[in-house]
Amino acid sequence: MSSIELESGLSPEEREIVSTVHKFAEEVMRPAGTALDQLEDPADVIAKDSVLWDVFKKHQELGLEAIADPANGFSLGQQARLRCMISEEMGWGDSGLAISFGVTEFPRMLATMSGKPHLMERYAGPQMIGCWAITEPDHGSDQINYATSAEIETLGKPNCIARKDGDGWLVSGQKAAWVSNGTIADAAALFCAVDRGEGIVGVGGFLVPLDDPAVSRGKPLDKIGQRALNQGEIFFDGVRVPDDHLVVPPEAYAMFGDAGLTQANSGMGSLFVGLAQAAFDLALDYARERVQGGVAIIEHQSVRSRLFEMFRQVESARALNRRVVESNAINGPKLQYAIASKVTSTQTAFDVASAALQIFGGNGLSREYPIEKILRDARASMIEDGCNDVLGLAAAARF
Ligand SMILES: Cc1cc2nc3c(=O)[nH]c(=O)nc-3n(C[C@H](O)[C@H](O)[C@H](O)COP(=O)(O)OP(=O)(O)OC[C@H]3O[C@@H](n4cnc5c(N)ncnc54)[C@H](O)[C@@H]3O)c2cc1C
Repeated sequence: MSSIELESGLSPEEREIVSTVHKFAEEVMRPAGTALDQLEDPADVIAKDSVLWDVFKKHQELGLEAIADPANGFSLGQQARLRCMISEEMGWGDSGLAISFGVTEFPRMLATMSGKPHLMERYAGPQMIGCWAITEPDHGSDQINYATSAEIETLGKPNCIARKDGDGWLVSGQKAAWVSNGTIADAAALFCAVDRGEGIVGVGGFLVPLDDPAVSRGKPLDKIGQRALNQGEIFFDGVRVPDDHLVVPPEAYAMFGDAGLTQANSGMGSLFVGLAQAAFDLALDYARERVQGGVAIIEHQSVRSRLFEMFRQVESARALNRRVVESNAINGPKLQYAIASKVTSTQTAFDVASAALQIFGGNGLSREYPIEKILRDARASMIEDGCNDVLGLAAAARF
């Protein structure tokens, strides 16, 4: 069931974009995500003959970055609404693949922020697969709090440090096994501790090419949900990067961290509205088909009322997300609202997927039906991009 009819004033161009993305989500992402989920070995997700590469290619061919091109004349509000609708569609198709497309943008974003043409040329190309390497084996939730040097001391030794070395930086250490696209990325937006020669002064954001011989990767991570999303450690053994690859110096990190997490969390908010919508759609179709007591189960009042509750939750999460994304685009980032949207959407996704599984009865538990995968995918989202409870504390600190 699509809620597109509720959108007022969508231009024919906007309608066309959303319907193209829906087709991609339905015909490319959903079947590929299902096939990748079923692979026993996560190394096969990124194997040479994996369907993953075809999905990436077709995603690039959509050319969605053109939405932000002033030549297309979309206002900031239109761009925000389109971004929400596109992410919802992608989350509806397959949330793991949608996250893979999302994090690939991070080096491109840093390169664009730098304003330096040579960095944009190197890191902002359409073929570039990127990642956001921020969490570490010993620092997961710690990274949500933008560490100053004093805080880093309390939190304990960082696992990855960039040290000033002549006219550049030497990066050594490792990032967590949770880095999305960590096993395949060409470049990283790396956020790590910075030492200019007199001890750690905070966290900085670097562009780091991952084809450097001093970079190595861990084994692809095996996990219960979003299995199409490849993840793995990245090890840096004295990787040398030029000075201008430090795009976010420690002094600017608190401000950038707020803006970056606002964008990431509000994007998660849209994407998991899409997953919740997928769970609702599947449950509605099933309730119309499955006959018990001589009638389709949708005729039973308790099933109908469960479906209504799911529908209400999805639409509430969508409404909050739209408000947050639009306000971020027009008024600037407000992290607490983005967190409210991420937490609401991911909790809704999990609750709606669980209710959908209940409507499927025993079949819901079977791998022959799609709903158990959606529930597993939704569960991961409550930890991804920050544990929901820790994010809540970070939001409340801004009241
Ligand atoms: C699907 C997925 C994709 C991810 N993608 C990326 C990525 O692209 N790049 C990247 O760098 N990382 C990524 N991550 C890592 C993710 O950001 C971390 O898993 C998350 O921040 C939590 O860190 P942790 O797993 O180390 O848990 P911990 O920080 O060890 O937390 C364990 C528990 O303790 C609680 N807790 C921790 N600290 C506090 C506190 N201060 N106050 C109260 N409670 C606390 C938490 O709520 C949690 O319940 C991803 C994770 C997942 C699941």
